[in-house]
Amino acid sequence: MAETTKEAKTKKWIKAKYTPKRKVCSFCRDKVVIDYKDAAKLRVYISDRNKIEPRRRTGTCAKHQRLLATAIKRARILALIPFVPVYGRQAEEAPPPEQAQ
Ligand SMILES: [Zn+2]
Repeated sequence: MAETTKEAKTKKWIKAKYTPKRKVCSFCRDKVVIDYKDAAKLRVYISDRNKIEPRRRTGTCAKHQRLLATAIKRARILALIPFVPVYGRQAEEAPPPEQAQ
């Protein structure tokens, strides 16, 4: 009967033209112990909206990304790193109400 032959459909996958540079984990390379008190270093690994940057962007290895995430969370609790960008907080800090008695 009418049999459909699926041929040469998988050959669309040609070599990717864009090959990004292999990023090396900076913690593995420099053999640095991640310290939650070192806010300046942790700041590199958070975005401008104070979110933890993904591994694919920073090149951190899985092991260090896990440690880094806990370090950032600890630093947030100690108020070394903000949870939320500053503009979000401006609404809370409302101008002082006029003291009408
Ligand atoms: Zn690493």
